[in-house]
Amino acid sequence: MNCAGCSMKDCASRVEAVCKSLPKAKATALPHEEALRLTQAFATRDWTEYDRCVVAFSGGKDSAACVVALLEAGFPADRLELWHHEIDGRESEALFDWPQTTDYCRKFAAAFGLKLRFSWKVGGFERELNRNETPTAPTRWEREDGTIGETGGKGPKGTRGLLPQVSPDLKVRWCSAYLKIDVGAAMLRNEPRFAEARTLFVTGERREESSSRSKYMEFEKDRTWSNKRTVVRCRPVLDWGEEEVWEALRRWGIRPHVAYRAGFSRLSCAFCIFGNDDQWATLLEMFPDVFEKVERYEAKSGKTIARSGKTIRERAENGTSYLAKLPEAERAEILAECRATEATEVKMDPADWKLPAGAFGNSMGPC
Ligand code: SF4
Repeated sequence: MNCAGCSMKDCASRVEAVCKSLPKAKATALPHEEALRLTQAFATRDWTEYDRCVVAFSGGKDSAACVVALLEAGFPADRLELWHHEIDGRESEALFDWPQTTDYCRKFAAAFGLKLRFSWKVGGFERELNRNETPTAPTRWEREDGTIGETGGKGPKGTRGLLPQVSPDLKVRWCSAYLKIDVGAAMLRNEPRFAEARTLFVTGERREESSSRSKYMEFEKDRTWSNKRTVVRCRPVLDWGEEEVWEALRRWGIRPHVAYRAGFSRLSCAFCIFGNDDQWATLLEMFPDVFEKVERYEAKSGKTIARSGKTIRERAENGTSYLAKLPEAERAEILAECRATEATEVKMDPADWKLPAGAFGNSMGPC
């Protein structure tokens, strides 16, 4: 356990004692006082020392499981809020995201009586892609009083033109950094209510997803932690297996996003750059116009999304649409639902809950 910066003499043994009794609450890389506070909060379900908990909520199964984990750990619903980053922004046409994800998030929050805030980079994915000798766009977010916060937009000028490519390097896979990670950090740094406050910032990574995630910590200082602001990054489902995640959704009667029911194994952007051949084939069938637009961008840039050099068209032709694998009776209904901007009600009777077609599939992509 890393106990840097702690002033308590006997803190190591005190934290260790609490952690031993709580195998799921390993508080590492935090100042001792914070580690103690957290482990005791999990033990006693007393969260009075935390002003709020913010969940980075994609609408996917892991972020839904985080909400379940927090509510089952006794975190008060009135201090819990969901944040969803809209990848396409609000000023451009829809390009990468699922048409109904925004509404799914709304319905999820309403079903559990939780606050929900949206955030986005102005112009979203498409403006960032077409940036030409201009700074990256400002970030905007919904504030508690109903106004829109804004920061940034005055950075160095730059030109993009290249679609993000499959890479662990966030400069190459720029979509994750510019449209998700930096957007969340900008909100935390610029909302006055987070200053002089203690916040848990929750994300849904799980160790079994990849070797890099297997090394993540359950609790650590968030990058936005400062002298004025306490922000603890918390990963409540880090040690959960996929089975536990689906079971949590069933237990709480949470209808999975339609992408899972169509056969996708994770909810990322619909046009996620990490998609496999079958996903590209599915997208070509579901959204042929958007597919052609992304294809034109790929051709214009002179580089393919895949490092193999195969175009998304070649990959789609090499794959099989997930829709072809669905039972005949469900296919048309699910296709229509995938194209809809309105989601079906999220809350359902656990007795009617069914594992979606995409469960335990080939998970591709880091976010
Ligand atoms: S889900 Fe895929 S396309 Fe979307 S931001 Fe993440 S890596 Fe990029």
